[in-house]
Amino acid sequence: MALTFDPRCKKLLQEEYARLKYFNGPLCSIVEGLSAYVSGLCKKDVMVTCICRTQARNDEIYACMKEKARPKPRKTAHSVYAAIDLRSRGLEKHIPAMLDWLNQYNSSNANPTKSGRTAFFHEVNGHGPHFHVQYQLKTIKQKPLTKMHAKQVR
Ligand SMILES: [Zn+2]
Repeated sequence: MALTFDPRCKKLLQEEYARLKYFNGPLCSIVEGLSAYVSGLCKKDVMVTCICRTQARNDEIYACMKEKARPKPRKTAHSVYAAIDLRSRGLEKHIPAMLDWLNQYNSSNANPTKSGRTAFFHEVNGHGPHFHVQYQLKTIKQKPLTKMHAKQVR
């Protein structure tokens, strides 16, 4: 069981995934970890359906939604290698467990969703229900060693 790519745009997704690995390795590690977790749960593949999406395309997708339901225009994490979508078909009964697994990364996430999470599950008009996983590893700035610290270290 493995991480697979939507056969309708497999080549494109594989290329995007290679770039995602370069720009956001920790997000790839999470998704690969999820794939291993799902293999343990039910011996099924996890399929990537979207990595990159331009802001214009994103606005287009949400424009079809009724005004009330439409989220406030927001910069999509898909335009900056910070998000990945995963298909949920065939994994329905594992959705809560998969979300819990993904959201264990919330506290190290520098770019969570508006609600502070790493992942949520949704359906956007006709695009099929899917997991949206959004992550950027927090970096910790190291302070230079002060004289006092240096003394304590000795
Ligand atoms: Zn998404």
